[in-house]
Amino acid sequence: MNEEGIVAKVKPATEHHSLSYMGDDVYQQLSTRYAHVLESARTFLNKKKGTKAGGTISRERKATLEKNHADCPQCGQVFRGGNHNTEHIHAKALGGEKSNKKNRIQICKVCNNSRNSTMQGFIGVPPYHRQREAQWPKIEAFLLWAELTIDDGIHAGAQIPEVHAHFLEARFAGEMPHAFYPKRAYGRFSTWSINDPPNYPHNRSTIRGVSSRGNIPKQRPTTTISSVLGRMGRAFFDRLFDYKPSVPQPLEHGLNDEHESVDSTLRHANENIEAIATSSNTQPPVEIEVDELRKKWKEVLDLEFSNQNGVIALGIFWNMIVESRTNSGLPWRAFEKAFNVRHKGAMPMKASEFLEQMGYSFVFVKQENGYMIHLCGEEE
Ligand SMILES: [Zn+2]
Repeated sequence: MNEEGIVAKVKPATEHHSLSYMGDDVYQQLSTRYAHVLESARTFLNKKKGTKAGGTISRERKATLEKNHADCPQCGQVFRGGNHNTEHIHAKALGGEKSNKKNRIQICKVCNNSRNSTMQGFIGVPPYHRQREAQWPKIEAFLLWAELTIDDGIHAGAQIPEVHAHFLEARFAGEMPHAFYPKRAYGRFSTWSINDPPNYPHNRSTIRGVSSRGNIPKQRPTTTISSVLGRMGRAFFDRLFDYKPSVPQPLEHGLNDEHESVDSTLRHANENIEAIATSSNTQPPVEIEVDELRKKWKEVLDLEFSNQNGVIALGIFWNMIVESRTNSGLPWRAFEKAFNVRHKGAMPMKASEFLEQMGYSFVFVKQENGYMIHLCGEEE
Protein backbone atom coordinates (compact mmCIF):
# COMPACT_ATOMS: atom_id res chain seq x y z
CA MET A 1 0.00 0.00 0.00
CA ASN A 2 1.35 3.46 -0.86
CA GLU A 3 1.58 6.35 1.56
CA GLU A 4 -1.60 8.00 0.36
CA GLY A 5 -3.49 4.81 0.94
CA ILE A 6 -2.34 4.72 4.53
CA VAL A 7 -3.26 8.36 5.07
CA ALA A 8 -6.67 7.79 3.59
CA LYS A 9 -7.19 4.85 5.89
CA VAL A 10 -5.92 6.57 9.01
CA LYS A 11 -7.73 9.85 8.57
CA PRO A 12 -11.32 8.78 9.26
CA ALA A 13 -10.14 7.33 12.55
CA THR A 14 -9.04 10.77 13.77
CA GLU A 15 -12.11 12.46 12.29
CA HIS A 16 -14.53 10.59 14.48
CA HIS A 17 -14.03 13.36 17.04
CA SER A 18 -14.34 12.15 20.57
CA LEU A 19 -17.01 9.52 20.10
CA SER A 20 -14.69 6.79 21.26
CA TYR A 21 -14.49 8.51 24.65
CA MET A 22 -18.18 9.12 25.30
CA GLY A 23 -21.62 8.30 24.00
CA ASP A 24 -22.95 9.89 20.80
CA ASP A 25 -25.67 11.81 22.62
CA VAL A 26 -23.25 12.96 25.34
CA TYR A 27 -20.87 14.27 22.68
CA GLN A 28 -23.64 16.08 20.78
CA GLN A 29 -24.87 17.73 23.95
CA LEU A 30 -21.49 18.70 25.41
CA SER A 31 -19.81 19.86 22.21
CA THR A 32 -22.73 22.25 21.69
CA ARG A 33 -22.76 23.42 25.30
CA TYR A 34 -18.99 24.03 25.32
CA ALA A 35 -18.51 25.00 21.65
CA HIS A 36 -16.73 28.21 22.72
CA VAL A 37 -14.17 26.23 24.75
CA LEU A 38 -13.41 23.82 21.90
CA GLU A 39 -13.18 26.68 19.43
CA SER A 40 -10.73 28.72 21.52
CA ALA A 41 -8.60 25.63 22.20
CA ARG A 42 -8.40 24.89 18.48
CA THR A 43 -7.44 28.50 17.72
CA PHE A 44 -4.83 28.54 20.47
CA LEU A 45 -3.22 25.26 19.38
CA ASN A 46 -3.10 26.36 15.76
CA LYS A 47 -1.13 29.45 16.80
CA LYS A 48 1.45 27.09 18.35
CA LYS A 49 1.96 29.23 21.41
CA GLY A 50 3.22 28.04 24.78
CA THR A 51 1.36 28.08 28.08
CA LYS A 52 0.42 31.44 29.55
CA ALA A 53 1.48 32.14 33.10
CA GLY A 54 -0.40 33.56 36.08
CA GLY A 55 -4.03 34.00 37.00
CA THR A 56 -4.58 33.49 40.71
CA ILE A 57 -6.94 35.03 43.24
CA SER A 58 -6.04 37.70 45.74
CA ARG A 59 -4.74 36.99 49.21
CA GLU A 60 -7.87 38.65 50.63
CA ARG A 61 -10.14 36.26 48.78
CA LYS A 62 -8.11 33.29 49.94
CA ALA A 63 -8.46 34.54 53.51
CA THR A 64 -12.21 35.00 53.02
CA LEU A 65 -12.59 31.42 51.78
CA GLU A 66 -10.83 30.05 54.84
CA LYS A 67 -12.76 32.28 57.22
CA ASN A 68 -16.02 31.04 55.67
CA HIS A 69 -14.93 27.39 56.00
CA ALA A 70 -15.27 27.01 52.24
CA ASP A 71 -14.65 23.53 50.89
CA CYS A 72 -13.36 22.06 47.66
CA PRO A 73 -16.10 21.78 45.00
CA GLN A 74 -14.47 18.56 43.74
CA CYS A 75 -13.86 16.56 46.93
CA GLY A 76 -15.39 18.52 49.83
CA GLN A 77 -12.09 19.02 51.65
CA VAL A 78 -12.24 22.14 53.84
CA PHE A 79 -9.86 24.95 52.91
CA ARG A 80 -7.33 25.73 55.60
CA GLY A 81 -3.71 26.77 55.86
CA GLY A 82 -3.43 27.50 52.13
CA ASN A 83 -4.21 23.92 51.05
CA HIS A 84 -6.02 25.28 47.98
CA ASN A 85 -5.19 27.16 44.82
CA THR A 86 -6.66 28.42 41.59
CA GLU A 87 -7.64 26.01 38.86
CA HIS A 88 -8.14 27.15 35.29
CA ILE A 89 -11.12 25.11 34.20
CA HIS A 90 -10.12 25.38 30.57
CA ALA A 91 -6.41 24.57 31.08
CA LYS A 92 -3.92 27.25 30.15
CA ALA A 93 -1.86 24.67 28.27
CA LEU A 94 -4.88 24.22 26.00
CA GLY A 95 -5.56 27.92 25.50
CA GLY A 96 -7.65 28.68 28.60
CA GLU A 97 -7.77 32.36 29.51
CA LYS A 98 -5.89 33.16 32.68
CA SER A 99 -7.67 36.44 33.44
CA ASN A 100 -11.22 35.40 32.61
CA LYS A 101 -12.87 35.03 36.02
CA LYS A 102 -15.38 32.55 34.67
CA ASN A 103 -12.47 30.29 33.83
CA ARG A 104 -11.20 30.17 37.40
CA ILE A 105 -12.27 28.19 40.43
CA GLN A 106 -10.62 27.61 43.78
CA ILE A 107 -10.05 23.91 44.52
CA CYS A 108 -7.82 21.98 46.91
CA LYS A 109 -4.23 21.40 45.83
CA VAL A 110 -4.67 17.64 45.63
CA CYS A 111 -7.62 18.00 43.23
CA ASN A 112 -5.64 20.59 41.27
CA ASN A 113 -2.65 18.23 40.96
CA SER A 114 -5.00 15.41 40.03
CA ARG A 115 -6.71 17.39 37.25
CA ASN A 116 -3.31 18.28 35.85
CA SER A 117 -2.20 14.67 36.14
CA THR A 118 -5.41 13.60 34.37
CA MET A 119 -4.66 15.93 31.46
CA GLN A 120 -1.10 14.67 31.09
CA GLY A 121 -1.95 11.02 31.71
CA PHE A 122 -4.72 11.10 29.13
CA ILE A 123 -3.36 13.40 26.41
CA GLY A 124 0.37 13.44 27.04
CA VAL A 125 2.88 16.06 28.13
CA PRO A 126 2.58 19.68 26.91
CA PRO A 127 3.18 21.62 24.67
CA TYR A 128 0.15 20.30 22.83
CA HIS A 129 0.29 22.18 19.54
CA ARG A 130 2.63 19.56 18.04
CA GLN A 131 0.12 16.83 18.77
CA ARG A 132 -2.95 18.90 18.03
CA GLU A 133 -4.20 16.91 15.05
CA ALA A 134 -3.45 13.38 16.16
CA GLN A 135 -4.58 14.09 19.71
CA TRP A 136 -7.59 16.28 19.01
CA PRO A 137 -10.21 13.67 20.02
CA LYS A 138 -8.45 13.28 23.36
CA ILE A 139 -7.96 17.02 23.79
CA GLU A 140 -11.65 17.53 23.09
CA ALA A 141 -12.72 14.79 25.50
CA PHE A 142 -10.54 16.24 28.25
CA LEU A 143 -11.79 19.79 27.67
CA LEU A 144 -15.42 18.65 27.88
CA TRP A 145 -14.74 16.61 31.03
CA ALA A 146 -12.96 19.58 32.64
CA GLU A 147 -15.95 21.91 32.10
CA LEU A 148 -18.58 19.32 32.96
CA THR A 149 -17.05 18.32 36.29
CA ILE A 150 -17.11 21.93 37.44
CA ASP A 151 -20.56 22.86 36.12
CA ASP A 152 -22.43 19.67 37.01
CA GLY A 153 -20.29 18.38 39.90
CA ILE A 154 -17.49 15.82 39.88
CA HIS A 155 -19.86 12.84 39.61
CA ALA A 156 -21.01 14.05 36.17
CA GLY A 157 -17.51 13.30 34.83
CA ALA A 158 -18.47 9.61 34.64
CA GLN A 159 -20.14 10.42 31.29
CA ILE A 160 -16.64 10.53 29.80
CA PRO A 161 -15.40 7.33 31.45
CA GLU A 162 -11.79 7.11 30.33
CA VAL A 163 -10.90 10.65 31.39
CA HIS A 164 -12.86 10.25 34.61
CA ALA A 165 -10.98 7.06 35.50
CA HIS A 166 -7.68 8.95 35.25
CA PHE A 167 -8.95 11.53 37.74
CA LEU A 168 -10.39 8.98 40.18
CA GLU A 169 -7.07 7.17 40.15
CA ALA A 170 -4.98 10.28 40.71
CA ARG A 171 -7.23 11.82 43.35
CA PHE A 172 -8.82 8.91 45.21
CA ALA A 173 -6.67 5.90 44.24
CA GLY A 174 -9.67 4.75 42.21
CA GLU A 175 -12.23 4.82 45.03
CA MET A 176 -14.87 7.47 44.50
CA PRO A 177 -15.92 8.74 47.91
CA HIS A 178 -19.71 8.79 47.53
CA ALA A 179 -20.06 10.32 50.96
CA PHE A 180 -18.36 13.55 49.91
CA TYR A 181 -20.18 16.43 48.36
CA PRO A 182 -19.17 20.02 48.88
CA LYS A 183 -21.26 21.95 51.38
CA ARG A 184 -19.80 25.42 51.29
CA ALA A 185 -17.94 25.57 47.99
CA TYR A 186 -17.61 28.60 45.73
CA GLY A 187 -18.24 28.25 42.01
CA ARG A 188 -16.81 30.12 39.06
CA PHE A 189 -15.56 33.44 40.32
CA SER A 190 -17.71 35.79 38.30
CA THR A 191 -20.58 35.53 40.73
CA TRP A 192 -18.88 36.34 44.00
CA SER A 193 -17.08 39.18 45.66
CA ILE A 194 -15.21 39.09 48.97
CA ASN A 195 -18.28 38.96 51.23
CA ASP A 196 -20.49 36.66 49.18
CA PRO A 197 -21.67 33.34 50.64
CA PRO A 198 -20.69 30.01 49.02
CA ASN A 199 -22.41 29.86 45.63
CA TYR A 200 -21.50 26.53 44.08
CA PRO A 201 -24.78 25.15 42.64
CA HIS A 202 -23.89 21.58 43.68
CA ASN A 203 -23.32 22.25 47.33
CA ARG A 204 -25.17 19.64 49.32
CA SER A 205 -27.07 22.32 51.24
CA THR A 206 -28.53 23.71 48.02
CA ILE A 207 -28.71 20.61 45.83
CA ARG A 208 -31.99 19.40 47.32
CA GLY A 209 -34.88 20.56 45.20
CA VAL A 210 -32.96 20.59 41.95
CA SER A 211 -35.49 19.05 39.61
CA SER A 212 -33.44 18.90 36.46
CA ARG A 213 -29.86 19.53 35.50
CA GLY A 214 -28.97 23.15 35.02
CA ASN A 215 -31.97 24.29 37.06
CA ILE A 216 -30.14 26.01 39.87
CA PRO A 217 -32.33 26.48 42.93
CA LYS A 218 -32.77 29.87 44.54
CA GLN A 219 -29.81 30.66 46.76
CA ARG A 220 -30.67 29.94 50.37
CA PRO A 221 -28.64 31.37 53.19
CA THR A 222 -26.06 28.65 53.85
CA THR A 223 -25.97 29.23 57.60
CA THR A 224 -29.56 28.54 58.59
CA ILE A 225 -30.47 28.11 62.24
CA SER A 226 -31.22 24.42 61.71
CA SER A 227 -27.93 23.72 59.95
CA VAL A 228 -26.04 25.49 62.71
CA LEU A 229 -27.88 23.59 65.41
CA GLY A 230 -27.40 20.32 63.53
CA ARG A 231 -23.70 20.98 63.37
CA MET A 232 -23.53 21.92 67.01
CA GLY A 233 -25.47 18.79 67.94
CA ARG A 234 -23.06 16.59 66.02
CA ALA A 235 -20.05 18.29 67.56
CA PHE A 236 -21.64 17.83 70.98
CA PHE A 237 -22.12 14.09 70.55
CA ASP A 238 -18.66 13.71 69.08
CA ARG A 239 -17.28 15.25 72.22
CA LEU A 240 -19.48 13.21 74.47
CA PHE A 241 -18.35 9.90 73.03
CA ASP A 242 -14.81 10.60 72.02
CA TYR A 243 -13.47 12.79 74.76
CA LYS A 244 -13.30 13.01 78.50
CA PRO A 245 -16.07 14.97 80.25
CA SER A 246 -13.49 17.46 81.51
CA VAL A 247 -13.21 18.96 78.03
CA PRO A 248 -14.68 22.48 78.09
CA GLN A 249 -17.92 22.62 76.15
CA PRO A 250 -18.52 25.88 74.37
CA LEU A 251 -21.80 24.50 73.06
CA GLU A 252 -24.04 25.13 76.04
CA HIS A 253 -24.13 28.80 75.35
CA GLY A 254 -27.02 29.61 73.04
CA LEU A 255 -28.43 26.09 73.00
CA ASN A 256 -30.04 26.11 76.43
CA ASP A 257 -31.24 29.65 76.75
CA GLU A 258 -34.70 29.56 75.27
CA HIS A 259 -35.27 33.24 75.86
CA GLU A 260 -32.59 34.34 73.49
CA SER A 261 -33.63 35.95 70.27
CA VAL A 262 -33.03 34.12 66.99
CA ASP A 263 -30.37 36.63 66.02
CA SER A 264 -28.37 36.20 69.16
CA THR A 265 -28.71 32.39 68.98
CA LEU A 266 -27.25 32.53 65.51
CA ARG A 267 -24.49 34.83 66.64
CA HIS A 268 -23.56 32.55 69.52
CA ALA A 269 -23.78 29.53 67.28
CA ASN A 270 -21.33 31.11 64.88
CA GLU A 271 -18.98 31.94 67.72
CA ASN A 272 -19.20 28.35 68.88
CA ILE A 273 -18.39 27.02 65.44
CA GLU A 274 -15.38 29.32 65.32
CA ALA A 275 -14.33 28.00 68.71
CA ILE A 276 -14.75 24.38 67.64
CA ALA A 277 -12.88 24.96 64.40
CA THR A 278 -10.06 26.70 66.21
CA SER A 279 -9.76 24.18 68.99
CA SER A 280 -9.86 21.18 66.66
CA ASN A 281 -7.30 22.83 64.40
CA THR A 282 -4.78 23.72 67.02
CA GLN A 283 -5.28 21.79 70.26
CA PRO A 284 -6.96 18.44 69.89
CA PRO A 285 -8.04 17.44 73.41
CA VAL A 286 -6.60 13.93 73.30
CA GLU A 287 -3.48 12.48 74.73
CA ILE A 288 -1.42 11.95 71.61
CA GLU A 289 1.30 14.19 70.31
CA VAL A 290 -0.19 15.01 66.95
CA ASP A 291 2.66 17.24 65.83
CA GLU A 292 5.27 14.76 67.02
CA LEU A 293 3.65 11.94 65.08
CA ARG A 294 3.38 14.03 61.93
CA LYS A 295 7.04 14.92 62.27
CA LYS A 296 8.00 11.28 62.73
CA TRP A 297 5.97 10.18 59.68
CA LYS A 298 7.44 12.97 57.61
CA GLU A 299 11.00 11.93 58.46
CA VAL A 300 10.31 8.37 57.32
CA LEU A 301 8.49 9.55 54.18
CA ASP A 302 11.15 12.08 53.20
CA LEU A 303 13.77 9.36 53.38
CA GLU A 304 11.66 6.93 51.34
CA PHE A 305 10.75 9.57 48.76
CA SER A 306 14.37 10.59 48.29
CA ASN A 307 15.47 6.95 47.99
CA GLN A 308 12.82 6.19 45.41
CA ASN A 309 12.69 9.34 43.25
CA GLY A 310 9.57 10.81 44.82
CA VAL A 311 7.47 7.64 44.73
CA ILE A 312 6.31 5.32 47.50
CA ALA A 313 3.52 2.77 47.85
CA LEU A 314 0.28 4.06 49.36
CA GLY A 315 0.03 0.82 51.36
CA ILE A 316 3.36 1.44 53.06
CA PHE A 317 2.27 4.89 54.17
CA TRP A 318 -1.10 3.63 55.35
CA ASN A 319 0.49 0.82 57.39
CA MET A 320 2.48 3.46 59.22
CA ILE A 321 -0.74 5.32 60.08
CA VAL A 322 -2.41 2.10 61.21
CA GLU A 323 0.55 1.26 63.42
CA SER A 324 0.55 4.71 65.00
CA ARG A 325 -3.17 4.44 65.66
CA THR A 326 -2.73 1.05 67.31
CA ASN A 327 0.10 2.36 69.48
CA SER A 328 -1.98 5.34 70.54
CA GLY A 329 -4.70 3.06 71.88
CA LEU A 330 -7.33 5.46 70.57
CA PRO A 331 -10.41 4.41 68.61
CA TRP A 332 -10.21 5.40 64.92
CA ARG A 333 -12.75 8.15 65.27
CA ALA A 334 -10.86 9.90 68.07
CA PHE A 335 -7.53 9.40 66.30
CA GLU A 336 -8.88 10.94 63.11
CA LYS A 337 -10.51 13.73 65.03
CA ALA A 338 -7.20 14.60 66.69
CA PHE A 339 -5.68 14.99 63.22
CA ASN A 340 -8.73 16.78 61.86
CA VAL A 341 -9.26 14.02 59.30
CA ARG A 342 -12.79 13.07 58.34
CA HIS A 343 -14.09 9.82 59.77
CA LYS A 344 -16.33 8.89 56.85
CA GLY A 345 -14.71 7.96 53.59
CA ALA A 346 -12.32 5.56 51.98
CA MET A 347 -8.72 5.02 53.06
CA PRO A 348 -7.16 6.87 50.10
CA MET A 349 -9.15 9.98 50.96
CA LYS A 350 -7.96 9.87 54.57
CA ALA A 351 -4.41 9.09 53.46
CA SER A 352 -4.48 12.14 51.23
CA GLU A 353 -5.61 14.32 54.13
CA PHE A 354 -2.76 13.08 56.34
CA LEU A 355 -0.26 13.62 53.52
CA GLU A 356 -1.54 17.08 52.82
CA GLN A 357 -1.16 18.06 56.47
CA MET A 358 2.51 17.18 56.16
CA GLY A 359 2.77 19.59 53.25
CA TYR A 360 3.13 17.08 50.43
CA SER A 361 1.91 17.90 46.94
CA PHE A 362 1.08 14.60 45.24
CA VAL A 363 -1.16 12.37 43.14
CA PHE A 364 -1.90 8.64 43.30
CA VAL A 365 -0.78 6.53 40.36
CA LYS A 366 -1.89 2.96 39.77
CA GLN A 367 0.80 0.37 39.17
CA GLU A 368 0.80 -3.41 38.92
CA ASN A 369 1.31 -3.90 42.64
CA GLY A 370 -1.16 -1.25 43.79
CA TYR A 371 -1.36 2.52 44.14
CA MET A 372 1.75 4.64 44.49
CA ILE A 373 2.09 8.17 45.89
CA HIS A 374 3.89 10.41 43.40
CA LEU A 375 5.22 13.77 44.57
CA CYS A 376 4.39 16.77 42.35
CA GLY A 377 5.99 20.14 41.94
CA GLU A 378 3.93 23.01 43.34
CA GLU A 379 1.39 24.23 40.78
CA GLU A 380 -0.26 27.58 41.03
ZN1 LIG B 1 -10.39 18.73 46.37
